[in-house]
Amino acid sequence: MSTIAANLQAVEATIAAATEAAGRPRSTVQLLAVSKTFPTEAVLEAIAAGQRAFGENYLQEGVEKIAAVARAQPDLSLEWHFIGPIQSNKTKPIATHFDWVHTVERIKIAQRLSEQRPPERGPLNICLQVNISGEVTKSGATAAELPELARQVAALPNLRLRGLMAIPEPQSDPALQRAAFATLRRLGESLRADGLMVDTLSMGMSGDMGAAILEGATIVRVGSAIFGAREYH
Ligand SMILES: *Cc1c(COP(=O)(O)O)cnc(C)c1O
Repeated sequence: MSTIAANLQAVEATIAAATEAAGRPRSTVQLLAVSKTFPTEAVLEAIAAGQRAFGENYLQEGVEKIAAVARAQPDLSLEWHFIGPIQSNKTKPIATHFDWVHTVERIKIAQRLSEQRPPERGPLNICLQVNISGEVTKSGATAAELPELARQVAALPNLRLRGLMAIPEPQSDPALQRAAFATLRRLGESLRADGLMVDTLSMGMSGDMGAAILEGATIVRVGSAIFGAREYH
């Protein structure tokens, strides 16, 4: 078995244990394999092991990898998620090549993605990135901005608002990990109470996916635990 296949098995065991501990069916959590900085061959190895959803942070690298993987595996239906910072002049390739975007934090970006989404690709799935307290990066809408942003994004024709995403500050204490994820879960619940049809919490990475699942994550974004340590970024 390849290293990537073995790593995927270990991540799967972690997800299975966490969903069981949370009393949730395994099918309620999607594993997004974050392949940023890793070559197409690594993605193809993960595909051979059964993985179908991949996350990329850097636009040019991601678009090139999507094309290379499609050439190698033309008949496979894969899901590509954009999870990196979005520059407003780079929205068109994102709208064209990806199935999901996790990092929308401003209405202007959402409007451009909606205008530029090719109609034949169907609506682009959107998560709003939220800056929950203690965030390392300055990215993300504040909790105060969220209700209005969510209402506006939900009204755009070529987008489908799915939910929320956050990247909390790395913590080794599971209780602190859970507290940050619980904040995002409650923000999602309040959007639902406002009548928005959101079903997604994108939270949890290699170091904290178990805590995220205990707090309701529906997508965990896992990179290094699958592909190994990154040499840059
Ligand atoms: C790199 C990255 C991940 C994966 O991080 P790991 O710690 O390698 O699992 C998840 N989400 C985002 C937004 C990332 O940039």
